[in-house]
Amino acid sequence: MGLIYIDGKLIKKENAKISVFDHGFLYGDGVFEGIRSYSGFIFKFAEHIDRLYESANTIMLKMPMTKKEMSNEVIKTVKANKLKDSYIRLIVTRGVGDLGLDPRKCPKPTTIIIADKIALYPKVVYEKGIEIITVPTRRSIAEALNPQIKTLNYLNNILAKIEAINAGAPEALMLNSGGFVAECTGENIFIVKKSGLVTPATHCGILKGITRDAVIALADKRNIACKEDILTRHDLFNADECFLTGTAAEIIPVVKIDSRPIGDGKPGKMTKKLMDDFRALTKISGVKVE
Ligand code: PMP
Repeated sequence: MGLIYIDGKLIKKENAKISVFDHGFLYGDGVFEGIRSYSGFIFKFAEHIDRLYESANTIMLKMPMTKKEMSNEVIKTVKANKLKDSYIRLIVTRGVGDLGLDPRKCPKPTTIIIADKIALYPKVVYEKGIEIITVPTRRSIAEALNPQIKTLNYLNNILAKIEAINAGAPEALMLNSGGFVAECTGENIFIVKKSGLVTPATHCGILKGITRDAVIALADKRNIACKEDILTRHDLFNADECFLTGTAAEIIPVVKIDSRPIGDGKPGKMTKKLMDDFRALTKISGVKVE
């Protein structure tokens, strides 16, 4: 239907515009979430709303409404767009200010909700797996801009994505400043080693993904051990399996890293099991859009 929510109003896509003085635009000063709905149910809704409010709290952005009100506005937007399976982008910027950085000059945050479709990669990537490469750009250090804050400033990730694309790979593996594995540009990474899962710990400088948490819980249900640890590229190269997780990406098998085939170079058995479990989970959980 193409109706975009801006500060309480639903506006036709063509007319959905914000001020050029909005600090979300001028400085990337704002926070966001990417959320999915499956068959009319919003997946991990409370977790996304909680993370949005935590991101806002850390950057001292005073949210313009309560979590409950925000959730209702999201539901209203999804409903208005008559979408059952959707990708929801929920954005809160610092709002309109002047040309200086000072957030005190932005009296009112801007809230934007887009409910649309998303397909990051073609279907074949989910069936045959993806190839990723390590890029020179390191993940931002937590002391500069903590990757746990989901801010509107994604240049760190975009630079990494550009480097991967320039090198002919669809996705980048980002290391942290210590040279340890962090994450991809919009996904967390897991390996399977000796029938257990390992994923970089949050202190490795990653966004604590909601899909990551869901996969850890699914593994636990199957009595598959999952360790949050420090990982090197060597660990990745010698993994039995590897996969990526993210709201938009869902679960993608990784079959090659820096030209080394992972395992037998095909999507792994455990990866496929978890992909099935995840698909099933999206069908039985979520907050109803009504
Ligand atoms: N890392 C980064 C940098 C991301 O942008 C995302 C997706 N927003 C993720 C990981 C995955 O997080 P989630 O599963 O919560 O979507």
